[in-house]
Amino acid sequence: MPNERLTLVIAAHNEAQALPLLHPRLRAVLDALPDLECGVLYVDDGSTDDTWQVMQELAADDASVGLLRLSRNFGKEAAVTAGLDFVDAGAVMLLDADGQDPPELIPEFVALWRQGYDNIYGTRLERDGESWFRRTTAAAFYRVVRRLSKTPIPADTGDFRLLSPRAVQALGQLRERHRFMKGLFGWVGFRRKALPYHRHARMVGSSKFGFWKLWNFALEGITSFSTAPLRAATYLGLATASFAFLFGMWVIVKAALYGDRVAGYPTMMSVILFLGGVQLIALGLIGEYLGRLYEESKQRPLYLVDTWHAPSVADSALH
Ligand code: UDP
Ligand code: MG
Repeated sequence: MPNERLTLVIAAHNEAQALPLLHPRLRAVLDALPDLECGVLYVDDGSTDDTWQVMQELAADDASVGLLRLSRNFGKEAAVTAGLDFVDAGAVMLLDADGQDPPELIPEFVALWRQGYDNIYGTRLERDGESWFRRTTAAAFYRVVRRLSKTPIPADTGDFRLLSPRAVQALGQLRERHRFMKGLFGWVGFRRKALPYHRHARMVGSSKFGFWKLWNFALEGITSFSTAPLRAATYLGLATASFAFLFGMWVIVKAALYGDRVAGYPTMMSVILFLGGVQLIALGLIGEYLGRLYEESKQRPLYLVDTWHAPSVADSALH
């Protein structure tokens, strides 16, 4: 196919130090790719440091670079979505600005794309520079999500991936507010292929995802792609009711045999507290889903654009 296009979409939040290190690596890789028109789209996700200035300098030196600046920090998922929305034609490669997703692997992704795959995702073989805690919680998370969700969500897979034009188009149709991208990529389907790679530590700076953000991210993943927790609440209720029934029988039989010696404050207390706890958990679960329903029903845009800087090269794949 002549004139195939590939756009690298890179979301960045406070990556002023990383971008100047990343861009030459990208350039070197793209220049070596034959018969492919390549562009780069940087999305500034409400950075508070010099990221935007750095991006403008990169765009001034490189005609294939497009820039998108969001009106504030909308989070990585929204920033990636914004980037995908601005790509009009061709395939898209997503990677992190911090160099954890090695651009040197792009030719391998492209080769698989040319073999006909639509969704080629990097699977981390090893993760450098991440704590034991982070690695084990991540592993547990993938296991839980895979159990609960009907959508295939491959383990140890981030956003480092290449999407064929039709996969990009399909993804553009999913406009939900709570965006669990790993799940959305899986939902789209088409021909998928894993590409194992070694995930390096960040070049500079520190991760933007602390413990609390990751916990919320995990909740997002589970609630966006599964209603299993609601079902679990039903079963928990059934189990409690059955237990309560047996316990009630036992109390009646005991009273009939031995009489009723008004006692049992401890039993009463534990039953009341237990039931109260179970009810609150179930209510909280419903609340999680209801809150998401509420957010969704407001139908707000996923992001707002502050500035759009088209690549200066003629006939770009971008808007
Ligand atoms: N990022 C973003 N918006 C945010 C947080 C992060 O665009 O609100 C970008 C960040 O600049 C980086 C990528 O998302 O390019 C991954 O972030 P990070 O390296 O902090 O996450 P980790 O690799 O630790 O999962
Ligand atoms: Mg990172």
